[in-house]
Amino acid sequence: MKKSLYSMFLEQLDSAAKKVNLDPDIHAILKCPKRELKVSVPVKMDSGRIEVFEGFRVQHSSARGPCKGGIRYHPEVSLDEMKALAALMTFKCAVVNVPYGGAKGGIRCDPTKMSRAELERLTRRYTATIMPIIGDHRDIPAPDVGTNSETMCWIMDTVSMLGDKASFEIVTGKPVDLGGSLGRREATGRGVTIITKKILEKSKISTPTIAVQGYGNVGSATANLLNQENFKVVAISDVSGALFNSKGLDFPSINKHIAHSKNHLLEGYKKKGVTSITNEELLRLPVDILIPAALENQITMDNASEIKAKIIVEAANSPTTPEAERILLNRDVILVPDILANAGGVIVSYFEWVQSIYVFFWKLDEINKNLERILDSAFEEVWEFVQKKRVDLRSAAFMLALTRLDNAIRQRGIFP
Ligand code: NAD
Repeated sequence: MKKSLYSMFLEQLDSAAKKVNLDPDIHAILKCPKRELKVSVPVKMDSGRIEVFEGFRVQHSSARGPCKGGIRYHPEVSLDEMKALAALMTFKCAVVNVPYGGAKGGIRCDPTKMSRAELERLTRRYTATIMPIIGDHRDIPAPDVGTNSETMCWIMDTVSMLGDKASFEIVTGKPVDLGGSLGRREATGRGVTIITKKILEKSKISTPTIAVQGYGNVGSATANLLNQENFKVVAISDVSGALFNSKGLDFPSINKHIAHSKNHLLEGYKKKGVTSITNEELLRLPVDILIPAALENQITMDNASEIKAKIIVEAANSPTTPEAERILLNRDVILVPDILANAGGVIVSYFEWVQSIYVFFWKLDEINKNLERILDSAFEEVWEFVQKKRVDLRSAAFMLALTRLDNAIRQRGIFP
């Protein structure tokens, strides 16, 4: 049976709490999300029939600032998953020290089987239903799996229309010509690239080979940026399967294939030297670095002992189960945790929010420079915990986040 994602988060929290000797009262607060909202979203489908979807918005903590987190459209969205991802957002924002708490929302649906008009009606109705708990200084959504800048634009427009005022700062990940930030689309992948280079410096591996699982927003930006920096990306995948070339893949031609193929998938791509493999085979390739950038629970007890990568950089949220992590750490695999590796997205979301509030926009190199500065300093702070406390990187990141959360909760006190 699939393990609950929230119970996995609690395992990580409990273990880090023990290591920093966390006050049991603060521990108790962080174990429970602040607010969980479950909504029904009726949508008139193109056929004229009404379908009722289940949606959620979970706010884990607002101790360090307004709640922040993505919105996911996927057939496996559940309250448990939303709780876990909201909690991870709290810890992610604390690790990189951006002034936010954590949230996550989603709708259980299959966006690949819905028309654009159906998705727009779904998004607008969901937005209206969660509106009482979101807000530019309360809870600011962003894109995640199955949503994009167009979805964010519909959310922003719905809130603006219902409130009869421009509400651009209600979401991040908007189109650039409608209050979005330059660099936001590829920010998570850019962050993964920055962190990958940082861990390579520490581990002293030169000319590594890299495999990336998932070729959506995060995976494609990561693979393309690494390729542009002359790293050898030998394998990538999406739901339709994986591609492998031991000499490195040709990204311009892959991107061209995706742009022109019917479902925008890797399926059907052909080139000399490239073989089609399965996603499971990709995870087990003899590469130096494996970057899971698809969904949670990809590296489990079933495949952990067969993974040959020396370094795993978690671009996706929760791709590794705690059991798999124990197996990997016992084999001295270096595992860079999601809350550090994929924080680039929320950092540039923070920049977008600031720009939307000021209605004044920054240049791309300013954004990328600030992203690098924040990630560089978060990585070094986490690394200091690794060295001083002799712990793995995930424990170190959780410990750093816990010290910041403990500090915020203590200083604010418990209302009333
Ligand atoms: P996306 O929907 O754009 O892409 C997901 C990709 O994974 C697609 O290519 C899909 O085909 C592929 N995929 C799905 N199941 C797969 C499987 N079993 N094997 C291989 N590939 C599979 O989503 P995204 O926004 O790129 O998010 C990916 C991960 O990164 C998620 O865990 C998400 O929570 C996390 N994340 C996203 C952001 C962001 O800014 N979008 C920020 C931080 C973390």
